Amino acid sequence: MLKGFEDIKGKVCVITGGGGIIGTSLGMGLAEAGAKVAIVDFNLDRANEVAKEIREKTNAEAIGVFANVLDKSLLIESKKEINYTLGKINVLINGAGGNSPNATTKEEFVTEKSMSDLSGTLLGLDIEAFRKIFDLNFMGTVLPTMVYAEDLFEKGGCIINISSMNAFRPLTKIPAYSAAKAGINNLTEWLAVHFSKVNIRVNAIAPGFFVTDQNRFLLYDKETGVLTPRGEKILSNTPMGRFGEPDELIGTLLYLISDLSKFVTGIVIPVDGGFNSYSGV
Ligand code: NAD
Repeated sequence: MLKGFEDIKGKVCVITGGGGIIGTSLGMGLAEAGAKVAIVDFNLDRANEVAKEIREKTNAEAIGVFANVLDKSLLIESKKEINYTLGKINVLINGAGGNSPNATTKEEFVTEKSMSDLSGTLLGLDIEAFRKIFDLNFMGTVLPTMVYAEDLFEKGGCIINISSMNAFRPLTKIPAYSAAKAGINNLTEWLAVHFSKVNIRVNAIAPGFFVTDQNRFLLYDKETGVLTPRGEKILSNTPMGRFGEPDELIGTLLYLISDLSKFVTGIVIPVDGGFNSYSGV
């Protein structure tokens, strides 16, 4: 008989950025499949709220844990807490990430008009804001992997990185986020090879467009709540014609961490309503 996701039961799964919209949904999906879940976030109140919601809805073991994915010593402390409360880690989901308005150029293109005022172009971007977003999305995956992967050596396990549409072709205006997510695809392949002899599989999910706090300002007008021209452009380039719902990522996650995919490593799966396949014509 074909087996499903039974092997996920009892696995200790850590989600960084677990307090966010996507992390919350993935945590709920894992708990419904019988996993124990650690919601790691630097917003501890939010992490605790999410863990409580998971416990109440699923009866699974779930805890909120404080860590900053850019601080190795805090990550080490968080690992001790997870090990003490839930046991050794079997699955790591590197979900912390995102973009911010001050790492976003105002203009898509440099034009004749920009020459009189370059502040809306790459030349006007604050380099510290740029570095912060690059680090959050790239180093914020490297560091948790360095700290948490040790647990996976004993019995094998899975690492899931969260990539983005920007990784395949950069979107305009968000250069740091795009470059970091492209780095995530490369790192996923590198890690898959590096850990291949110790039964650790490394794959990534590349979500298409899901409305969350980090991108709402780009997709909807703050005052009127109507789609921005960018939001409209995204929808017209998504063959399915809508934004994704966070729970639509769960099936891909469960597949990638279950034995159903036990010979699959080093891949990036788009979950995007067809955005990445569409040329626009
Ligand atoms: P979100 O903003 O809702 O959640 C991000 C979470 O990460 C927050 O709870 C925040 O507190 C936490 N966080 C931020 N910096 C942290 C740090 N230094 N240490 C620990 N925690 C930190 O975002 P989301 O939409 O749920 O995004 C989750 C992941 O999915 C991100 O990697 C994002 O880039 C990626 N993604 C999102 C979309 C989308 O459409 N929303 C699309 C593609 C990829």
